[in-house]
Amino acid sequence: MSHVQNELLFLYIEDNIDGRRNRQQIENHLETCEHCFASYLDLLEHWETPAGLTDSFTDITIEKVKLYQSYSHLAEQRPSSYRSRQARTLVHYLLAAALTLVLMAGGIFQGVLDLTDQSNLDKRPSLTDNIMQKTDSWLTQLLKGERQ
Ligand SMILES: [Zn+2]
Repeated sequence: MSHVQNELLFLYIEDNIDGRRNRQQIENHLETCEHCFASYLDLLEHWETPAGLTDSFTDITIEKVKLYQSYSHLAEQRPSSYRSRQARTLVHYLLAAALTLVLMAGGIFQGVLDLTDQSNLDKRPSLTDNIMQKTDSWLTQLLKGERQ
């Protein structure tokens, strides 16, 4: 099967594929083709849910985590070279998500830093540690597939 066209991926995301077999074909291809899987994630990233849904970002994130879970499960049954390649793509996504959080949290932690800076220089908590902790618990929650 040749690469999946973006239009088809888009239909797949919108759950508008005719027939169970066609859908299965796309899924099979996404499982084996890093190129199309990346396109799929990219489309998913920019996909707008129907108007009225304000928490589309959360939904999409949860969708990705579900995807991650199912793919990490699938990857376990595959040769290690495939697994590491696929895992790297997914790790990029988690890192990107974590980085977004760090950037968002940076503003908040900067305030904490300024406060502690003046009062207690020696025992000042590490900004990085704080953010790492936050990010870590956030990712843990995400991986459990829970809403905040
Ligand atoms: Zn492909």
